[in-house]
Amino acid sequence: MRTMKYAIIIPDGAADEPLKELGGKTPLEAAHTPNMDRVAMEGRQGLASTVPPGFESGSDVATMSLLGYDPAKYHTGRAPLEAAAQRIPLSATDWVFRCNLVTVVDGIMKDHSAGGITNAEARVLLKVLAEDLNLADFEFYPGVSYRNLLVYRGRHEFDVQTKPPHEIPEEVAAKWVPKGTGAAVLNQIIDRSRELFARHEINEVRRENKMNPATQVWLWGQGHAPAMPKFVEKFGVKSGCMITGVDLLRGLAVLLGWDVHEVEGMTSFHDTNYAGQGKDTAAMLDQYDLVLSHIEAPDEASHQADWKTKIAAIEHIDKYVVGPVYEKLKTFPEWRMLVLPDHPTNIATRKHGYAPTCFAMAGTRVKGLRPAPYSERNSAAGDLKIEHGHELMEYFLRGGNL
Ligand SMILES: [Zn+2]
Repeated sequence: MRTMKYAIIIPDGAADEPLKELGGKTPLEAAHTPNMDRVAMEGRQGLASTVPPGFESGSDVATMSLLGYDPAKYHTGRAPLEAAAQRIPLSATDWVFRCNLVTVVDGIMKDHSAGGITNAEARVLLKVLAEDLNLADFEFYPGVSYRNLLVYRGRHEFDVQTKPPHEIPEEVAAKWVPKGTGAAVLNQIIDRSRELFARHEINEVRRENKMNPATQVWLWGQGHAPAMPKFVEKFGVKSGCMITGVDLLRGLAVLLGWDVHEVEGMTSFHDTNYAGQGKDTAAMLDQYDLVLSHIEAPDEASHQADWKTKIAAIEHIDKYVVGPVYEKLKTFPEWRMLVLPDHPTNIATRKHGYAPTCFAMAGTRVKGLRPAPYSERNSAAGDLKIEHGHELMEYFLRGGNL
């Protein structure tokens, strides 16, 4: 039997709603995307609900779904997935919290990313905080940019409600601080960071350069380590490779038993090396049966309500990633390709949306009934609606009988 080659491209948060600024078009409709359109027209498109009822819309839940794992069964929090990316050893009783660096001005949550603070700056600030607090059983782990982790290895249990900072732009931050059992120590950490960071020279320099300062940490996304079966056990695809600029997806790859490939100059913003990522994604298909390539830039642009950058990001993904990967796939006897945002991120609200996401799929034995360019509207008018997002992977891998 010949080995089928699979490629999955995730333009994070690319789906959206019609915008007045775009004459009633969505960013995906406004963007020039000949390659995504080809995937949809030569194959088929449809909708998949990647955020099950009762879950917060986020890449942790939505990506788990589209990888074929039901979040209701496997999701224990976002932070434990990122801990897996950093290969932080966790015992069953350890807790992991996402520790964002954020910008709060006059009590208002202005920026969940502290202006896309650099890794080096984040490291310094977290070190200052950790040394000052000197709390037993808590360990800070710097990640990428504003995305850091706090691990608790003590004996206390937590039952806290927390809030993702990207879900509360322009809201009063104090309204959303951790609440519930164990919240006191978390708020102690948050409050101390505010005092320590206020006059820190890193923030003075950032303010001078008109960049958002990291005014404090924000703790959320907590959980214990998840127990997920390996992808090969669940779906029989022997080898997988993840290419992504964010730890969350690296972590999912580690838990799935996939390799992680790093691309020179790859970031989670629009300054990323699109061409390098496209080239490497295509090259990895020689070695792996399945390659997943994730680009965070459209999501970050959406959170900043920057529709121009969002459109540019989508066009770059189309040209430099989808195009070359599609061409590469066609050199294999059997192949299949899937393009889908994990979830919508809406420019109008700067938040993740809950609408089903739109996917386009092409390749061996994939044929649609109504060829149309790739968009939210055309996907909704398509002939395939997947109510349980985690079932999409099975459809994608199984082949002809969609
Ligand atoms: Zn997002």
